[in-house]
Amino acid sequence: MKRPSFMEDTIARRLAVTVTLAAAVTLVLLELFFTFGGKWAKPDIQEAGVVSQVGAVIRIVSAAPASDREHLARAANTDEVHFAWYPSDSLLAQALQNGHYSSDEISEGWRFLQPYLGQHPDRMVVFQENNPVSRTAGLPYDRSRFDDAYFAGIQLDDGSWILCVALQRFWGLYAFERFCLQFLMFALWAIAVSLIASRQLSRPIEHLAGAVRSLGLQPRSARLEEDGPREIRLVSETINGMQAQIQQFIEYRTTMLAAISHDLRTPLTRIRLRGEFIDCPEQQKNLFRDVDEMQAMIDGALSFFRNDASREDSIMFDLPGLLQTIANDYCDQEFFVEYDGPAKAGYVGQLYAMKRVFSNLVENAIKYATPPTITLEASGDGGYRILIRDRGPGIPPDALSEVFEPYFRLDKSRNRQTGGVGLGLTSAQTIVRSNGGDIIMVNRPEGGLEVQIILPKIR
Ligand code: ADP
Repeated sequence: MKRPSFMEDTIARRLAVTVTLAAAVTLVLLELFFTFGGKWAKPDIQEAGVVSQVGAVIRIVSAAPASDREHLARAANTDEVHFAWYPSDSLLAQALQNGHYSSDEISEGWRFLQPYLGQHPDRMVVFQENNPVSRTAGLPYDRSRFDDAYFAGIQLDDGSWILCVALQRFWGLYAFERFCLQFLMFALWAIAVSLIASRQLSRPIEHLAGAVRSLGLQPRSARLEEDGPREIRLVSETINGMQAQIQQFIEYRTTMLAAISHDLRTPLTRIRLRGEFIDCPEQQKNLFRDVDEMQAMIDGALSFFRNDASREDSIMFDLPGLLQTIANDYCDQEFFVEYDGPAKAGYVGQLYAMKRVFSNLVENAIKYATPPTITLEASGDGGYRILIRDRGPGIPPDALSEVFEPYFRLDKSRNRQTGGVGLGLTSAQTIVRSNGGDIIMVNRPEGGLEVQIILPKIR
């Protein structure tokens, strides 16, 4: 078989394209995530190097002579951290000195800053805007703009204080939260990509499976469309070839059986003529009865093959309308057939073939049981269920599947009076199945037979 070129639509190419696209989009997303992720995507204070920067400023200011300290501290201001130095007798130094700090605030100060300071300062506190010290007048930042500041105060040997104000407490989420968020986003993205990819691959296969299923139910349905990826096209082509062969075979079989049935009429007529010469009236009567029966069987077979061969087009028709008409026709003949169901419901199918099916089943109920009730129900999948219920003897459970066999009759003598040859249910089943549906028979617990005709929505 010729190897497909990469330009051809194949499942392998779809897979490769989907995976490549997914990888490319993931890369772009990652890039966008880190570029425009907003401040939450940035690292927190420690990772941003702010703490080491603060440590350096403190070291420089504390090493400088007292006269330069205020000036130096102010010069170290950045967009992120503001600094100020307060001599021991200043109001702010007093406030820092006399402030109340929780042991947490103090130990946090040591944890954060100590590693960057080189030598132990006398006192070191870290506090937030909920500490009253943060509201002392004259702090070196605009409180209305930065309401989430973070303060570190370091007392030097001479009792003066250096105050550092980190204007924003966090530069982002903590690493664990960031990881969770990234994980969640990429998990969602991976799910979305795999859903799209599997949909891309499974859709043509599902489509093909649906088409093959309806082909199985309706051997005469239209050929499968030969489109989609190469592998699916190949399968469709093969199935179309098989379908053509099956159709040819069915046609051949039908034509042959119809010809045999037709040709049997002539010898049968001859037998009947010869029967006229039989002297014994009893034997003659028996022979004529057998000939009549064979004649009926042949006529039944011929009409079955004619119906089978007819390719009626499917059209949209009013299913309740059809059922009501059948019920009314029998009511006119004084068989009280009741219809129960919606007044209007469109259905696409073979109108005349379906009419033969329902009439046949109603006729059977009248012949072998009682005039039935026809119930129409919508089934969930857009199709319908028609129930034909009578109150007759029903059918023995072991014969329930056999009644659909050609020429099967339950009680020969009973049927002889009724005139059937045992092809009615066979024909009904063939028609319903060729319309994509099915017929099921069940004995009702309260007595009588229920024939269920299931008609799915024709897609
Ligand atoms: P026929 O031409 O004999 O009516 P069918 O295929 O229509 O052939 O029916 C097959 C057999 O199924 C009938 O001979 C009859 O014995 C049985 N049958 C069909 N419908 C009913 C029914 N409603 N109640 C009882 N028996 C039935």
